[in-house]
Amino acid sequence: MTSAVTDNESKVIETARVFAQEMIRPQAAEWAKQGGLSRQIYEAAAQNGLVSAILPKDCGGQGVSMLAAAKIAEALAAADFGVTFALKVHANAANAVARRGTERQRERYLADMIAGRSVGAFCLTEPGVGSDATAITCRAESQGDGWLLNGTKAWVTNGAEADVFAVYAQTDPAAGWRGIATFLVDGDMAGVRRGEPYRMTSGHAAGVCDIMFEDCRLNADALLVPPGEGFKAAMAGINMARMFVAAICCGMMADSLNRALEYGVSRVAFGKPVLANQGLQWGLADVATDLAAAQGLTEKAAAVLDEGKDGILECAFAKKFTTGAAVRGISACMQAMGARGLRDEEPFGRHMAAAKMCEFLDGTTEIQNVVISRTLLRPYGIDQF
Ligand SMILES: Cc1cc2nc3c(=O)[nH]c(=O)nc-3n(C[C@H](O)[C@H](O)[C@H](O)COP(=O)(O)OP(=O)(O)OC[C@H]3O[C@@H](n4cnc5c(N)ncnc54)[C@H](O)[C@@H]3O)c2cc1C
Repeated sequence: MTSAVTDNESKVIETARVFAQEMIRPQAAEWAKQGGLSRQIYEAAAQNGLVSAILPKDCGGQGVSMLAAAKIAEALAAADFGVTFALKVHANAANAVARRGTERQRERYLADMIAGRSVGAFCLTEPGVGSDATAITCRAESQGDGWLLNGTKAWVTNGAEADVFAVYAQTDPAAGWRGIATFLVDGDMAGVRRGEPYRMTSGHAAGVCDIMFEDCRLNADALLVPPGEGFKAAMAGINMARMFVAAICCGMMADSLNRALEYGVSRVAFGKPVLANQGLQWGLADVATDLAAAQGLTEKAAAVLDEGKDGILECAFAKKFTTGAAVRGISACMQAMGARGLRDEEPFGRHMAAAKMCEFLDGTTEIQNVVISRTLLRPYGIDQF
């Protein structure tokens, strides 16, 4: 598949690999325990073209294909999920401003976001609302020529650092999903409050926390996506996000497999390398097989998005299979490492916790099954039981 990327895209993918190796890997274990990521990392990633990669060329981006963007995410995630996800969410927020924003919003936000000086985040999930995003209660009331925003958002990646939030809010509860709109909200506005970064199993570099909006007064030009379009925009973005989560899992699996092979051929037990035992070999053979399948599904999803299609089914297949394969595969790699795999110097604990997180974010495995089943049943005239 890498043959399908251009020479220029190959260079960006290689830059991502080197950035991951030199800038992320040495500090990944430390960052995985901290809340949030230092501003310098966003800026360094930006200077290496890793933020602008997916943005359109006429907005200062490089306009790389989804296929290339998937390979960039895979290369970064081989070093660490939390950093990769923080950078990915930021780049996706900049991309949303570039593609959906008004001229004024682009002028106001884009240059700083592309340079990594200003960090972006998405606020959809709420303390009481996860999978069923149509049920959000965060309220934007129309007031004169602006809006009054109230509500609490949960699980906000980059929440600890973000300068600009893309906030999904209900403008008309009676209208259901059609009432949902998206607003750009500055992190330093009166009425915006950040919770403490969550303590999680790992992945603290992603700076996940709650964000509270309390009588937050927004001007009319804070509207990014109008009511009626906001939920559709969220769903369109989520297919791409699912493909990226799949790519991230491929990166973590590949890194785990490489490390398990490297260690297992040199670690000796009972007079021979531990990988001379067929039981362990076959465990890693299963990981390699799943990895090839995971990469194939991810590349297919990316290619479908590159064709301009919504890729709902392909992205659901990729996310469902790849996240599950990563949970199984990273565990199998850890098994081949013996106790050594548990140490902080090794990536396995971080990768395994992150693979489990990936089974939840951007739609759980069960929600991927809902999406897939709906597609299977539609030809029979059944949209959902
Ligand atoms: C590390 C991380 C970062 C995140 N970052 C962001 C972010 O930046 N912005 C943001 O808005 N959100 C973010 N999220 C939230 C994420 O999108 C939600 O976790 C996800 O939508 C699932 O919601 P939930 O965890 O509340 O699960 P729930 O919806 O409470 O579901 C609980 C369980 O019920 C199952 N379930 C629910 N409905 C069905 C059904 N119809 N059929 C079968 N089973 C069902 C689920 O699969 C799950 O197993 C993040 C999450 C994580 C873990």
